[in-house]
Amino acid sequence: MIFDDHFYQEDNIPPIDLTEMDALLKNPPVLCGKTTCPTDKETGTYCRCILSVFKHRTHYDFYLTLVKEKVEHAFVDLIRNDNKKPMK
Ligand SMILES: [Zn+2]
Repeated sequence: MIFDDHFYQEDNIPPIDLTEMDALLKNPPVLCGKTTCPTDKETGTYCRCILSVFKHRTHYDFYLTLVKEKVEHAFVDLIRNDNKKPMK
């Protein structure tokens, strides 16, 4: 698929825009909900809704890392807040 070449090409990977990533973390891209979304395991291609949001697959990988870290941090914060609660 010629239209998706920008997403997979290795020659001219666009720099990751952290402001954009931050905005995406705050407003996560809406996925289509198909079983192949966001990754089509059979062909290794990404679903259209990911292709339309991210400029390059490395951007998507980076985004997933951020999401993972965000979840872990939120979990750590939760435990910390729990410990701050006064003991009865
Ligand atoms: Zn999708």
